[in-house]
Amino acid sequence: MAKGVIYLVGAGPGNPGLLTLRAKELIEKADTLVYDYLVHPTFLQFAGPNCESIYVGKKAGRHSVSQEEIERLLVNHAMQGKAVVRLKGGDPFIFGRGSEEVRALQKAGVDFEVVPGITAAIGASAYSGTPLTQRGVNATLVIVTGHEDPEKAESMIDWKSLPQENAAICIYMGVSKLPGIIDELLDAGFAQDTPIACVEWATMGHQRVCRGKLGTIVESVKSFKLQAPSIIIIGENAAMGEELSWFEKKPLQGRRLVVTRSQGQASELSQKLELLGAEVIGLPLIEISKSIDPETQKDVFDELGSYDWLVFSSPNGVRFFFEAFFETFNDIRSLGFIRIAAVGQSTAKEIEKFFVSVEVIPEEANADSLADALVETGSMDSAKVLVVAGNLGRETLYRRLDEARAIVDKFVVYKTEPTDLSDHPSAKMFREQGADAIIFTSSSGVKSFVDQVGSLKLEEGALHPKTISIGPITSASMQEQGMPVDLQAKEASLDSLVEGIIKRFGKGQ
Ligand code: SAH
Repeated sequence: MAKGVIYLVGAGPGNPGLLTLRAKELIEKADTLVYDYLVHPTFLQFAGPNCESIYVGKKAGRHSVSQEEIERLLVNHAMQGKAVVRLKGGDPFIFGRGSEEVRALQKAGVDFEVVPGITAAIGASAYSGTPLTQRGVNATLVIVTGHEDPEKAESMIDWKSLPQENAAICIYMGVSKLPGIIDELLDAGFAQDTPIACVEWATMGHQRVCRGKLGTIVESVKSFKLQAPSIIIIGENAAMGEELSWFEKKPLQGRRLVVTRSQGQASELSQKLELLGAEVIGLPLIEISKSIDPETQKDVFDELGSYDWLVFSSPNGVRFFFEAFFETFNDIRSLGFIRIAAVGQSTAKEIEKFFVSVEVIPEEANADSLADALVETGSMDSAKVLVVAGNLGRETLYRRLDEARAIVDKFVVYKTEPTDLSDHPSAKMFREQGADAIIFTSSSGVKSFVDQVGSLKLEEGALHPKTISIGPITSASMQEQGMPVDLQAKEASLDSLVEGIIKRFGKGQ
C-alpha cells in the first residue's frame, strides 16, 4: 500500500474563523485527525463522516498520551496509507513540539507538510487591541515560554537578558509561574509601572483580559482568577488595549451559550450570537440521516402527479426529499403543478433553493399553524396531500388535515437518533466548563436534551447554565420536563430571542 502523508497543521488560537483555508481543506479530506486540548471542537465538524478523530490532548498535570506515543500513532496511521492531519493549537512550530514530531516522521521516512497557524500571541494581540509593534514605541518583539520542560535542571530563560525598553514581550505558558516570573523581571530591573496585559482564552467568545502594571499584577490576577491558557504581554504596548480594544466591547463577549444543534435554526442562531461576541457551544444531541423505504419511494414517485399538495415539515425533509427526487427524475418539471406548503421560513428557504416557490408558509412555525394555513386555503376537502417528514411523527398535522377531509400520505425521508456524546469534544467542553445559558428553540430540542442529560453532567467547578426559551410552546415543553424557564423571548422569533439574551446577559446588564 502507498504510504500516506502527515500534515502538521496549526489550528490557530481557537476562534474557528481564524483557521487557514489550507487547514480547513486538509481537515475535510483527512482519514485520521489527531488533535490537542487547545483545538476548538468546532473544527472537528469539518471532518468527513469516515474520518477517525483521535484526542491526544494534555491538560496541565494530566498527560493523556505521551509524546512518543503520539509520534508512533502518526507514523502507524501514515504507514497504512492514510492522510493524517495532526492538528495543533496555534502554530505547530511555536512551543508546540512540532519540530520533534517532524524529526520522528523524517526518521520513519514518512512524507509530511507543515501548515502554519496564527499563534496565540498574534491572536491575543489582535483580539485585545494590543499591537505588538508600534512605530516610535518599540521595534523588538520577544516570544518566550514561562514554563520549561520540568525535567530540565537548569532554566534556559535568562530573564535578565530580555530587553526592558522599546520591546513587547509575549509570555506563553506563564500563568502558574506568574509570581516567580514577575519577581525575576523586577529583579532584572524592569520598572514597577511597566504595563502588562494577560489575555485568557484569546480570540474565543469567553476571552478575558486582565490589564495592569508589573508591580501590582500578581494581586490583580489573583482576584481576577486568571487561568491557562493565557498570553502575557509586557511593555508599553500592553497599555494600548484600553483604547484599541474592540472585541471586548461586543455585547455578548465573555458569555458562553449552548445551542442544541438538532434544532431547526441552530446555525443561524449560532452565527447571530457569535457576531455579538458570544462563545457558542453547539451540542449535536441527535444525528439525522436519510432513511427512505425504497418501496414507499417508488409508490410516491409513481403517483407524484396525483397529489394536490406537497407539505414539508422541516428543512431536513426538503433536503432528503429532493435528493431522492433527483435520483429518480432528472428534471424539476417532474414535480408537476403540485401546490407546496412549508412549516416555516427556514423550510421554505430550503425549497426555494430548487427554484420552486412555496405557496403557504404559516406565520408561526408549528404544526397547528401549518394545518390552520392549509385549511384556510379552502382546498383540503378530498385533496391528496403528501406530507414529507422524519420518523418522529407530526401527528397533529395528520389529524388536523384528516379532520379537514384531506387524504393524507406520509413520506418518511429521514430518521433521528441520539448522538454518542461520551467522547464528543463539544459535550466534553460543556461538561468541563458549563455555560452561562442553554437556549432552546423547539420542543424537540428540549426532548433530545433531556434524553441525553446523562452524558452532559457538569464537572465540579463548571458554570451552571440558565435556561432560555424561544416561546410559549418550547417553554411548556421545558416545564413539562421539570426544567425552569429563566428567560422567554417576547415574540417567538430569533431576533426577539437574541434581543432578550442581550438584555439579560449582555455587557453592562
Ligand atoms: N503552538 C501554540 C502554543 C502552545 S503552548 C501557539 O502557537 O499558540 C500553550 C500555550 O499557548 C498556553 O499555555 C498559552 O500561553 C498559549 N495559548 C494557546 N492558545 C491560547 C489562547 N487561545 N489564549 C491565550 N493563550 C493561548
